[in-house]
Amino acid sequence: MELDLVIRDGEVVLPEGPRRCDVGVRDGLIATIGQGLGADHEIDASGRLILPGGIDSHCHIEQESSLGGVMTADDFASATRSAAFGGNTAVIPFACQRKGDSLTEVVEGYRALAEAKAHIDFTFHLMVTDPTEALLRRELPDLIDQGYRSVKLYMAYELMRVSDLQMLQVMEVARDHDALVVVHAENWDVIQWATARLVAEGHTEPRFHPSSHPPEAELDAVQRLTCLTSLVDVPVLVLHMSTPGAVEELRRARARGARMYAETCPQYLYLTARNMEISGPEAAKFCCSPPLRDSATQEALWRGIGDRLFDVVSSDHCPYSYDERGKLVNSANPTFKQVPNGLPGLEARLPLLFSGGVSSGRISLQRFAELSATNAARLYGLYPRKGVIAEGSDADLAIWDPGQQVRLEASRMHDAAGYTPYEGIEVTGWPTTVISRGRVIVDGDSFDAEPGRGELLLAEALSLDGVAA
Ligand SMILES: [Zn+2]
Repeated sequence: MELDLVIRDGEVVLPEGPRRCDVGVRDGLIATIGQGLGADHEIDASGRLILPGGIDSHCHIEQESSLGGVMTADDFASATRSAAFGGNTAVIPFACQRKGDSLTEVVEGYRALAEAKAHIDFTFHLMVTDPTEALLRRELPDLIDQGYRSVKLYMAYELMRVSDLQMLQVMEVARDHDALVVVHAENWDVIQWATARLVAEGHTEPRFHPSSHPPEAELDAVQRLTCLTSLVDVPVLVLHMSTPGAVEELRRARARGARMYAETCPQYLYLTARNMEISGPEAAKFCCSPPLRDSATQEALWRGIGDRLFDVVSSDHCPYSYDERGKLVNSANPTFKQVPNGLPGLEARLPLLFSGGVSSGRISLQRFAELSATNAARLYGLYPRKGVIAEGSDADLAIWDPGQQVRLEASRMHDAAGYTPYEGIEVTGWPTTVISRGRVIVDGDSFDAEPGRGELLLAEALSLDGVAA
């Protein structure tokens, strides 16, 4: 067979386990996996790992803050370039509806932005904040049938949240049209109560943000969500889980037969509220929701990664721009109530998970592939085109040097945030070469992908078998 590209002699991370062999690519697809393959264009991967390109299934690109007013720092070009340098070959950001918007027009708007600028493949979560009769009856079913098979709901934030009645209505549509529901699960009333107490005590600096989102807010919301899924049997993924108690609750629901899935993010595995114990605006750079917790929680979450409690580790990349003095751009000295919630992390996600997971011996290479790519592909209906090294799949690959030691710093990141919350953290293992549909787009420091080459991924059906342990 004539091949366009052969990646020779790497440790290939296949679904059944790593195997030392070659991967042959033709017409953008993985044509064959075997020994002794040859082509005019060959990459010697001896001593390196060949992994499925990462799928970052939770990132906010060209989106207004959930509090309103501030836009995220990246556009689709800078975000997808940064994602590629971090070993990713697909992203799933949000098509964010604001109350009163037509969801169809929102999706078309985001699609046009991404089709003009994205360097790697993409699809969107349908973010529903205003489930009108027309949306439930026509727009949402039509969009899901077109292949946008993920619907995002917020249980928190005044501008975004939906009621339990609206959640049930959206869940019914998702069930009937084969979509996944993904949820930001925090009890907004608990957050409002804790916030009022802090403000009354004069504790308004950004460093007090974690205290305004107590773990009970997440636990209660997840409990309520598990109840709702016993009324409407639809697959639900709880985004960015940050507390072990809530994850246990989800595990119990799963044991009862609920189709519930759990995601966490590197910020909960590497950072704690102690990172925010600095006075003034600098602490704002660590504001995210759910918030950073404590080191005991962090250890419990790492155990959960090892124990297969989590199905997906995504970045929740949601960066905002800060000036040289650490102040949020276009803002006076903000209180924790005004700081937009979110951190940059598209590029650091995979090295952080690899280093803390694989290099530290907590998880296997197969498990890393599942958490970083395969499970997202299954949950969002992109499997087996994406997320797996198999004959016939897109040749979306990342070649890793498992021993390369890198100190994370803002200057080596390619996003537009201008800082990294992981500054100074040393990781072991780095994606040195990234291949998107058979084309080498990242090779060391060089980048070769024009904006607009990324393709929209529409999904025919979810593919949930094999996600949960
Ligand atoms: Zn998010």
